[in-house]
Amino acid sequence: MFKGIDDKGNPIGTHTAFWKAVKAGAKGADGKPLWYKKGIDYWDTVEATDDGVLGGYGHVSDLDAKENSEFLRSVLGDALDGSRELVACDCGAGIGRVTSSFLIHHFHEVDLVEPVKHFVRAAEASLAGENAPKRADGHRAVNFFAEPLEAFAPEPGRYDAVWVQWCVGHLPDDEFVAFFERCAAGLKPGGCVFVKENNAKEGFVLDTDDSSVTRSHKYFVHLFEEKLGWEIVEHRLQKDFPAELFKVRMYAVRPKR
Ligand code: SAH
Repeated sequence: MFKGIDDKGNPIGTHTAFWKAVKAGAKGADGKPLWYKKGIDYWDTVEATDDGVLGGYGHVSDLDAKENSEFLRSVLGDALDGSRELVACDCGAGIGRVTSSFLIHHFHEVDLVEPVKHFVRAAEASLAGENAPKRADGHRAVNFFAEPLEAFAPEPGRYDAVWVQWCVGHLPDDEFVAFFERCAAGLKPGGCVFVKENNAKEGFVLDTDDSSVTRSHKYFVHLFEEKLGWEIVEHRLQKDFPAELFKVRMYAVRPKR
């Protein structure tokens, strides 16, 4: 059992009871738990900049991208040698920060998935608009899917890497599992799903502003290994981020072969 606290430190029960209550709670006009709408409503008010999507920590973006590249190399190795054109998907992409600072350097094609409309517009303008820089290596952002992860179903067998960074806390456990199962179908042979997320010290922490949870490392391992039955190929802590932040960890996961 994983015990939760809210952002003021008040206990909010176990993960199973918490998600049950979210599901049983008030619904929006679309029939989905208000949980999701609250998340979108929050991000709708956030400016479309690195500082916006990183909660005022835009300055960590370079360090973030550098470690993403190192982790990707460690997991995909020779596949990145340029002999094959690789395709990635940037999930919960925001304004396309992860794509432009990192994924586009390694992948010939990148698709982006993001539910918040003004973020999608900003991503599209900077990556694919008329004034977007053309890359000498021909790498490009191809598809911009304006939908949330709980609705996204990747095209079967399209991706070498699905990159999920700082957004999966918006998914309740059952939708988390269902999303990763759809991702499995979207992977090429040898492909991997990468997750980079904050880690709570223990249990989980509810963010009442943006309607998300921060799960502990143990909680992620439980979801990947026990709920999904997947293998964690490698995981690694981000180095050198400001000390006041949650620890941040990268995971490479895939269905067991
Ligand atoms: N991954 C990006 C953005 C992080 S901010 C980056 O690292 O720069 C969190 C993002 O999650 C926002 O863009 C927000 O709109 C998105 N988000 C919120 N709810 C989501 C959902 N249900 N599915 C997918 N993305 C969601």
